[in-house]
Amino acid sequence: MITTIQQVLIPNGDRYQTVDVRLEGEKIGAIAPRLEAKGHLINGRNKLLLPGFVNAHTHSSEMWSRGAIAPLPLELWLAELYDQTLTDPEQVYLSALGTAVETLLSGGTTVVDHLSLIPGQEEASVAAVVRAYREVGIRAYVGPLVYDFSLPAGVPSRGRVRDIPPGEQTASEVLELLERIVEAYHRPEDGISIMAAPTGLQLCSTDLVEGCRDLSDRYSLCRHTHLLETKAQQMLVQEKYGCSAVELFNKLGFLGDRTSLAHGVWLSDTDIDLLASTQSTVVHNPLSNLRLGSGIAPILRYRQAGVNVSFGCDGAASNDSQDLLEAIKIGSILHNITDAEYQNWIRPIESVQMAALGGVTGLGMADQLGTLDAGKTADLVMYDLTSLSLLPRTDPIGLLVLGRPTNAIHSAWVNGKSVVVDGHVTTVDVKELRQRLFEHSQWNRLDESLPLDSASLWRRETEPHYRYVMGLTKGSQ
Ligand SMILES: [Zn+2]
Repeated sequence: MITTIQQVLIPNGDRYQTVDVRLEGEKIGAIAPRLEAKGHLINGRNKLLLPGFVNAHTHSSEMWSRGAIAPLPLELWLAELYDQTLTDPEQVYLSALGTAVETLLSGGTTVVDHLSLIPGQEEASVAAVVRAYREVGIRAYVGPLVYDFSLPAGVPSRGRVRDIPPGEQTASEVLELLERIVEAYHRPEDGISIMAAPTGLQLCSTDLVEGCRDLSDRYSLCRHTHLLETKAQQMLVQEKYGCSAVELFNKLGFLGDRTSLAHGVWLSDTDIDLLASTQSTVVHNPLSNLRLGSGIAPILRYRQAGVNVSFGCDGAASNDSQDLLEAIKIGSILHNITDAEYQNWIRPIESVQMAALGGVTGLGMADQLGTLDAGKTADLVMYDLTSLSLLPRTDPIGLLVLGRPTNAIHSAWVNGKSVVVDGHVTTVDVKELRQRLFEHSQWNRLDESLPLDSASLWRRETEPHYRYVMGLTKGSQ
């Protein structure tokens, strides 16, 4: 299949140029001011073509809880989320469809789904999202969210002796499950990759992290995990292991150029240097960090130290959307308040590069994706510069990043295949998806039989200790 996009704007350094772009099968065949009008012709006039972005960290099934959880810090928010665990793989399928559609319609062509598994239906959970991502045609990295500790282990002790129940599965049971999932679903050539993705050191043993590392070596999997999202996590690892989480991950051989680490809020300069020297990637999830009060990740310091940074929406219950352009905007301008030296601030063209090339670099795909170059795989997004939100005509990328683009995506291609045309996802029936999301949910505050704002059992157990640990209880500072 040959497609020629005619007379479209592309960035050229700090300026723009008008070109024809030829797509040949899965690849970008040629880019030049004028190409022979071959194959399917697309009018690119008044449109901007960019490499697709990566939604580099999310949890698709959280969509069912978006907007529903009270303003709480991560550890208590998580306790609430645990109470709302799904039981039906069909719901997991629908929320993956929703996540994929929202990612595509906000400039993303790849999604990294750190997927919560339904207990007892783990493989069915993975099967459900793989089916959804194949149907939509988005490139997907699915990291089953695995752990071998129970939730209370995720809060530091701060000198208190606590009765922490054991995890539901041992490290070796988890690793056996992961290997079965890899064997069944890891198909990078078809756009579906399984990742070795332990939840994080707060809920995983070093045995499990090492097992994930071995599995990733054996099957050439990308590695993914949460890293130092909250102050409590920083305290926990210090308390338990006497070193920082970055130092421990490094000792365990988990860092590297195919390792992406979500959040990275509470890091020292030594930690940042370790991430740079191991060529690890930090995934910046600014909205989630704000929503959960986790802190502001030191993104400007990462960039100065040479650490690759990409953007993620994080799960839809801590954001509470999957709008990648919104995450890119906030994730770029948030740091202007952290550094008076405005020459360090992130420019819109740099934001776009972080979202595209930065994203694929963290997945070990920078040689195949992330830039507009002949020979690269065609994961592309074309923006309609006549969208009201992108008018009047100024700097298209400046307005795309700093504005509030709505209905701005005209077309998208993944692996050379068209998946969005005229602003509509063409591979799945979005109207039907809306109907099914509606039918599978309810406005929970409309039901008078349900109590208002009652804390979950998990939260009631966790909260007093959390308040003690964080110095929020009188006399515990
Ligand atoms: Zn997360």
